[in-house]
Amino acid sequence: MKPLVAIVGRPNVGKSTLFNRLARRRIALVEDIPGVTRDRQYWDVEYEGRELTIIDTGGFVPGEKDSLLQQVREQAQLAVEECDAIIFVTDARAGLTSADQEVASYLRQSGKPVVVAANKLDSESQSLQAHAAEFFRLGLGDVFPISAEHGLGVGSMMETVVGKLPPLSPEELEARKKAAEAEERAERGEEEGAEEAPAEEEEERPIRVAIIGRPNVGKSTLVNALLKEKRVVASEVPGTTRDPIDSELKYKDRQVILTDTAGIRRKKTIAHRLEKFSVVAALKAMERSDVAVLLMDATEPAVDQDAKLAGIAEEKGRALVIVVNKWDLISTDQRKQEIFREELKHALKFVGYAPIVFTSALTGSKVEKVLELAVELADQFRYRAPTPQLNRLLKHIEENHPAPIVGRGPLRVYYMAQVGTAPPTFALTCNRPDGVPDMYKRYLTNQLRKTFDLRVPIRMLFRERP
Ligand code: GDP
Ligand code: GDP
Repeated sequence: MKPLVAIVGRPNVGKSTLFNRLARRRIALVEDIPGVTRDRQYWDVEYEGRELTIIDTGGFVPGEKDSLLQQVREQAQLAVEECDAIIFVTDARAGLTSADQEVASYLRQSGKPVVVAANKLDSESQSLQAHAAEFFRLGLGDVFPISAEHGLGVGSMMETVVGKLPPLSPEELEARKKAAEAEERAERGEEEGAEEAPAEEEEERPIRVAIIGRPNVGKSTLVNALLKEKRVVASEVPGTTRDPIDSELKYKDRQVILTDTAGIRRKKTIAHRLEKFSVVAALKAMERSDVAVLLMDATEPAVDQDAKLAGIAEEKGRALVIVVNKWDLISTDQRKQEIFREELKHALKFVGYAPIVFTSALTGSKVEKVLELAVELADQFRYRAPTPQLNRLLKHIEENHPAPIVGRGPLRVYYMAQVGTAPPTFALTCNRPDGVPDMYKRYLTNQLRKTFDLRVPIRMLFRERP
């Protein structure tokens, strides 16, 4: 689980400058999704060996009619409710303002870890340092004189931020070790060892499903419909951590935990009026889920925000079920549904593998199908392809669709191995890993999908023979 770190502060203090500076340490994206990666408010970055998601809450500034104070207060509330640590940016040249003080007192009460960035201190000069000192009066502890523009002081500030994050859990440490070992094996060109975790252990893990979507698409209604008959009491679930927004249920003897991101919004008193808030809630819920169920409103489909949420699921590599809800308001005509499906598939091309289901959470129509798909996809998400079958597939590909010529000669794929799950990750050892054309990558991915019936994201790594 990557911790979320929020950047808050009033306008013009340098939040986006800092955000862009921090983004230089970002973890490479698998693929840029046009339209989704534009105007980003979050990046996954690595500092001090720790992966975290930074969020520029300035990108979520509410309506212009709101007063400045109200805007900053909402950002701070969002940060406090959803994030694990907060970077409170101030303008040390302008000095301490009453808006800063107001926000600081709110942050203080929250008990969340906070660092104060006294920004725009571009030189080491005495008087500027004295400006920074003033911000100790906020009573938030650590104050870091920084220059977001020139990168001064940012490193040591981030060191402190990482130090304040909750430590990695034993499971996370174990997962890291495993990933590093798999990576090493793959580098040596070996296949996933047979000594891997026994299958039944994975079977027993509950399936975590995040219900995401814009406000009012019907998330809570869907969750309630699903829980109506199948809810189990907490004590029946061994070894699961409880969160008030999580609900447990059983489906065909499988343990399922639903995280209702609308619940996050309701539980807290403030009204998240903004659709953009659903992005932060989704980011957080997806971090610990196997499957994301993305709800959209049939009467108002595939707007930018829906695409953005689908893009996050793809980027985070989570299995995805697309749910077109409120279908009762549209039609019972089967043809209409097919047209709708085609249009939606086109708008959300980058998650073309995700199944689409038309529901009415209100009447209960097709809601069970959502659960059925979620469980199915969760299994595909953790699927391990048998190595002999992978070899057969590679042979079949070589015979029917030889690799293209790249540069001076033909691309040669020597072998293919599955090096990870959740999402399924395959390594291909070849002679020119950098020269594999995108078309061919897509072809290989599709072959893997077809052969193993994988309707989840797939990651492909291309490596040179060691
Ligand atoms: P935001 O509204 O809080 O996101 O602020 P911006 O990042 O847009 O920055 C507001 C202005 O402050 C811009 O003109 C930046 O160039 C400037 N700025 C940001 N960081 C620094 C800094 O470290 N030093 C100086 N001198 N100016 C900065
Ligand atoms: P959330 O904000 O995504 O959790 O949305 P809610 O579950 O609160 O639903 C918002 C509104 O849409 C409520 O008035 C629901 O009764 C209504 N609604 C939810 N699902 C359906 C549906 O399938 N059909 C119709 N007609 N209305 C629905």
